[in-house]
Amino acid sequence: MKAFENYEVWWVTGAQLLYGGDAVVAVDAHSKEMVDGLNNSGNLPVKVVYKGTANSSKEVADVMSAANNDPRCVGVITWMHTFSPAKMWIHGLQQLHKPLLHFHTQYNAEIPWDTMDMDFMNLNQSAHGDREFGHICSRMRLRRKVVVGHWTDPEAQKHIAVWQRVAAAWADSQDMLILRFGDQMNNVAVTDGDKVEAEVRLGYHVDYTPVSELMEHFKKVADSDVDALVETYFKEYAHDAELEDKQTEGYRKVWNAAKAELALRSILTAKGAKGFTTNFDDLGTQDITAPDFVGFDQIPGLASQRLMAEGYGFGAEGDWKSAALYRTVWFMSQGLPKGCSFLEDYTLNFDGKNSSILQAHMLEICPLIAEERPRLEVHFLGIGVRKSLTARLVFTSKPDNGVTATVVDMGNRFRLIVNDVKCIKSKPLPKLPVASALWIPQPDFEVGAGAWILAGGTHHSCFSYDLTPEYWEDYAEIAGIEMLHINKDTTIAGFKNEMRWNEVYYMLNKSLYL
Ligand code: MN
Repeated sequence: MKAFENYEVWWVTGAQLLYGGDAVVAVDAHSKEMVDGLNNSGNLPVKVVYKGTANSSKEVADVMSAANNDPRCVGVITWMHTFSPAKMWIHGLQQLHKPLLHFHTQYNAEIPWDTMDMDFMNLNQSAHGDREFGHICSRMRLRRKVVVGHWTDPEAQKHIAVWQRVAAAWADSQDMLILRFGDQMNNVAVTDGDKVEAEVRLGYHVDYTPVSELMEHFKKVADSDVDALVETYFKEYAHDAELEDKQTEGYRKVWNAAKAELALRSILTAKGAKGFTTNFDDLGTQDITAPDFVGFDQIPGLASQRLMAEGYGFGAEGDWKSAALYRTVWFMSQGLPKGCSFLEDYTLNFDGKNSSILQAHMLEICPLIAEERPRLEVHFLGIGVRKSLTARLVFTSKPDNGVTATVVDMGNRFRLIVNDVKCIKSKPLPKLPVASALWIPQPDFEVGAGAWILAGGTHHSCFSYDLTPEYWEDYAEIAGIEMLHINKDTTIAGFKNEMRWNEVYYMLNKSLYL
């Protein structure tokens, strides 16, 4: 899969010299065969590279240190072929700063009942060795994923594939730069937070970027490039024929929206940023009638929609946590078919057991989740510093199951809140020309929405049809942050208890959090 071709995960086999050199030679051959088998399965998005057997403390420390220092390596898979005394893993595991997956598997599948002898036993000892290794990981309080299953089993391979995608996205977020054009929307609490802690804990960096700097890029956009992009819009999206009439206000708005997109892409590229936030009150010169006006004539919503589809993180109203999280969602789900988007809880639809929440935004929903071909439209938008006709893509999203997620800052920790949701068919919204989704939070509207609010969840979240809760479990484990998962089994009473227990856990067990 092309998206992850710059990454690899390393496989290190635990062994020892107790059984003699011949045994290690056999272990080595088995390991190679298993790694080849995984790579040839077609189920893994990231290549597995076999790094040999580790037979001593020094060999373990050397390979872990090399894993840290190789930018291609996004994580390490360990497997104890034979009994591998785990004290020899201590120094290496202390050094490892990349995601760890412990694969509890075995070279041999079924016991050869009639022929099994002690030599065979010694070569198929992961039942034994993986417990010794698991103990030292638990003893050292190491965060890791444990996958159990035969290496040829597609189910086991799928669990590894999930972890690989999360590990790759984790690597991507470690040098992630998010540009904030303007600040938070004034007085909004839930989208704000501790940017220093975010960099310590989650890796990404958030930079204030003056809108005047963005406008320097805007000024340099060539008209011919704008013309070409407008042509692309008309080819890609359904639209009224009159929108192509260059004499109309509608065409002028589409043209200006395309220029805004080129300016945003230009500054994102120049700074090597992976995401951005906007603020509808800060779009250039405040007074649009000023003789020296330089600014966007409308909220750059169409640009945000298209840049999200390209993989740029986006958060509206200065929401940098959502911008970073959306980039991670997009990155993890590369090559998966159904799509993802930044969304906002917009309005409630009370309808008994089918009560649901309309997800939308003023403009900024990613077209990757569209059910039909998006429609390019221009309508008046009366919010923010520009009250103006504004270009946008309009569509409804696919009815299907998905998962939405958000990160909030609880003051002493980040909390990841994940909710399984069921997207249902929405009715037409002729007077609300924005992209939208309509979903029933699981286990139902009452408990799902109630739990989300009790957890302090945002009105903004990052939604995906493709990612399952397992991705978020792996992400929270790698990041070392709290995860609350609202799903079919959630009850309010149980959820409240979980939050109370977590409160104590993160207060008392600071060492685990760190
Ligand atoms: Mn919003």
